[in-house]
Amino acid sequence: MYNPSSLKAEEFIDHEEVLETLAYAQENKSNEELIDQILEKARERKGLSHREAAVLLDCDIPGKNQEIFELAKQIKQDFYGNRIVMFAPLYLSNYCVNGCVYCPYHMKNKHIARKKLTQEEVRKEVIALQDMGHKRLALEAGEDPVNNPIEYILECIDTIYSIHHKNGDIRRVNVNIAATTVENYRRLKEAGIGTYILFQETYHKESYEKLHPTGPKHDYAYHTEAMDRAMEGGIDDVGLGVLFGLELYRYELAALLMHAEHLEAVHGVGPHTISVPRLKRADDIDPDTFDNGIDDDTFAKIIACIRISVPYTGMIISTRESQACRERALELGISQISGASKTSVGGYASEEPEEENSEQFDVSDKRTLDEVVRWLMELDCLPSFCTACYREGRTGDRFMELCKSRQIMNCCHPNALMTLMEYLMDYATDETKSIGEEMIERELSQIPSEKVRELVSEKLDRIRNGERDFRF
Ligand code: SAM
Repeated sequence: MYNPSSLKAEEFIDHEEVLETLAYAQENKSNEELIDQILEKARERKGLSHREAAVLLDCDIPGKNQEIFELAKQIKQDFYGNRIVMFAPLYLSNYCVNGCVYCPYHMKNKHIARKKLTQEEVRKEVIALQDMGHKRLALEAGEDPVNNPIEYILECIDTIYSIHHKNGDIRRVNVNIAATTVENYRRLKEAGIGTYILFQETYHKESYEKLHPTGPKHDYAYHTEAMDRAMEGGIDDVGLGVLFGLELYRYELAALLMHAEHLEAVHGVGPHTISVPRLKRADDIDPDTFDNGIDDDTFAKIIACIRISVPYTGMIISTRESQACRERALELGISQISGASKTSVGGYASEEPEEENSEQFDVSDKRTLDEVVRWLMELDCLPSFCTACYREGRTGDRFMELCKSRQIMNCCHPNALMTLMEYLMDYATDETKSIGEEMIERELSQIPSEKVRELVSEKLDRIRNGERDFRF
């Protein structure tokens, strides 16, 4: 029986409820009256239930689909404006004791070079990332209690925050590591992490168990209930995601939104972010051997439906996707993207080509951070390196309040301008710098309050003159 307030995975992701939702969506996919009602509700910008979202996802009326896309664009604009937050993944270790059949880190893979960064290597990676201009990282590691225990992850976080190379510093470290205990989440929180990210991979229990045949990750309930333990351990911001391509996307969308409803029901705050990774080719992994791959149009529709259903949640797309695919996704709801990512352990500082390394999967968007930043500005998106919210204690429900009351525009926009200016001064090529300066002037002139405009303008001048003591 579906119970969003239950703490048991099989009750808040109730399989029968998902199946009934999918049947309901199929029955109503051409029901114009119902679809109009759902769109009307969505226009209030307070979100949709998993059932309503499932109907929109299945909707096969071309004109209505256009409306869905338009509404997603509008909601993205209303809540997030044109800002896009930048980050990079940092792979610490690919030692792993799990048997995930889609991931090249799986224990039986003997081809992949196993690597774990020493603290000196972490330092080199972080300096390479700072030298590109990155301020926000997502830490990645396989699950291996002997090689990558929590103490190792905590030590890496300390090292990362301690490095200040030239004008660089990493101001927010998000963490994507295997499900763990309340106590370990508490320690991660104390170490000063931002978001705890964990992809569900698939919400379909039977498939989940087949896709994770061995290792601690096999335990569906332990994995699915991880966000509750993270929140119990004091982590306010959690990031959900499924790996599209493993199971039926319709099932995943309904269940993902049920997970969001559960977090809201139990903790009073939904997911901080939702990621939309798609399965990619990798050492030992051929995505064509999986039956549930989704095409780019379906992918775009999923993004639009998530945007409409959870308007306050940030959405992340990685360099797994091509420039063209990311361009479309940006319009429809994405608010954070990675740039210049390496998915190998030691890939940022290493001179070796990734093939000879230890990468996790093929990256489609291989552009430099400077190229990504310039491309965003050419699309009239404002790249933001801001990390202020989390340092100011605006996490969890406090961040959601900011977003719900649409204050994100007043607060985040000036910060985006200032952190972009820092980037332009310290790391950009001449061409990017000139496009950026023009964009900042344009954006500045659009700030409604004269007082705020003057204040920001003053701070921008100080950044131009070399001051870097602001903490955004
Ligand atoms: N080991 C951690 C865990 O157990 O959740 C997470 C770290 S793993 C480096 C990050 C994510 O990469 C996984 O959660 C999975 O969704 C994704 N991934 C694994 N294999 C992939 C592939 N072949 N293509 C795309 N993404 C993949």
